[in-house]
Amino acid sequence: MANPSIRVTVIGTGYLGAVHAAVMADQGLTVLGVDLDQAKIDALAKGEAPFFEPGLNEVLERAVSSGRLTFTTNLQEAAEFGDIHFICVGTPQKAGSNAADLRHVNAAVDGLVPNLTQDSIIIGKSTVPAGTSKALEERIEEIRPRNIQVRLAWNPEFLREGHAVKDTQLPDRLVVGTDDDEVDARIREVYAKQIEAGVPYLRMDTATAELVKVAANSFLATKISFINAIAEVCEQAGADVTALANAIGYDERIGKSFLRAGVGFGGGCLPKDIRAFMARAGQLGVDDALVFLKEIDNINLRQRQRVARLAAEMLGGNVIGKPVAVLGAAFKPDSDDVRDSPALDVAATLHLQGAKVLVYDPYAMENAAAAYPPLNYVESAAEAVRDAELVLLLTEWEEFTALDPVALGELTPARRIIDGRNVLDPKKWREAGWTFRGLGRQ
Ligand code: NAD
Repeated sequence: MANPSIRVTVIGTGYLGAVHAAVMADQGLTVLGVDLDQAKIDALAKGEAPFFEPGLNEVLERAVSSGRLTFTTNLQEAAEFGDIHFICVGTPQKAGSNAADLRHVNAAVDGLVPNLTQDSIIIGKSTVPAGTSKALEERIEEIRPRNIQVRLAWNPEFLREGHAVKDTQLPDRLVVGTDDDEVDARIREVYAKQIEAGVPYLRMDTATAELVKVAANSFLATKISFINAIAEVCEQAGADVTALANAIGYDERIGKSFLRAGVGFGGGCLPKDIRAFMARAGQLGVDDALVFLKEIDNINLRQRQRVARLAAEMLGGNVIGKPVAVLGAAFKPDSDDVRDSPALDVAATLHLQGAKVLVYDPYAMENAAAAYPPLNYVESAAEAVRDAELVLLLTEWEEFTALDPVALGELTPARRIIDGRNVLDPKKWREAGWTFRGLGRQ
């Protein structure tokens, strides 16, 4: 059990902050979660996750009932609560630009720092452009109460939605940017459980810590777009990208993960992070170094158009008035997050082209309906596919990868499917009478 006399706040309780707050409290710290969103705070205070994340409800419930996890919308209360403050607010793409919008980070710091009543450490976890910590330090120096010392460190987060609880309990590494030994010692106390469990603790300067996060996401995005580009070539060359990916993945320098061709990446991180990275490189005068990320982004967005075009092709060149089932709305399985979701993007494109789109997702329906109200949302995969002239599998939920082609085929006479994630066995589906198309395969 970590030391409950360590009192921390977690400012911003979204997909990152809610999990961070719950796990820190569950591991023994005393934690106050802070958000502007009253509905989110009300749910969290009852021990209920305001979004779907496997295992989060259990951890939250335990942490709240232990009395070590409380919530507020009041930053002044947060300022008085403890001396360690995590910043976990959103850093979305700025409207009309590739750059990161740091408005929420600045607002959190501006709301917190003038109200501090004791010497404090602010630990940034949000994903930010290189140089943000330096700029924030200057801002903090201007607004801090004169009798109070405030120090800043950056500790980027690498959790994956769908695995966020485990990734927070036992991350594959902790990256900490600080040049201050005392700050470093306090952060090691906060993460005592992780360090005890052998999680590598990597200390560096703040600019490097900030860059580690965007570099990691750029590498992952590059891997996905790489295999999607190869998939385009495979289709024209009469080759099979799944066999190719498996074969190149045996080389341990390449590895098998993130090499599944499909409709591409989305979500609240990868797309905006690679764009913000390009924008920051431009500001630093090294735009040429990251020009390749533009192509990574283009390849990724092209996947969505390719799937929509393939759908039209399978429907005889015209989707107007045709019922189409879209299985999946979340940007990835085991999450209800629909931010920049490829599945929803394809569904919306087909809808705009005149198809009658029926969408089903096990957990993301509410978010999807809020983001794209005009689509038809139904209660089950069976309901979506009934009468559909085409089925598109666009988020690889286990519920969909486990679908039985024979049983499903009985519901939908047209028996046409696009496997937008390359997760189904084409042989099985064809044997059950389906016209089957995947990406990068024949
Ligand atoms: P999110 O939108 O789910 O959560 C952000 C929260 O911050 C919201 O609840 C919002 O109401 C709150 N907020 C905004 N301004 C605030 C303020 N001034 N005071 C208090 N609360 C405020 O976003 P997220 O997905 O949790 O991402 C947060 C950050 O973490 C981003 O920088 C993101 O890139 C990074 N990140 C996210 C993930 C992920 O998988 N979601 C993983 C690693 C890093």
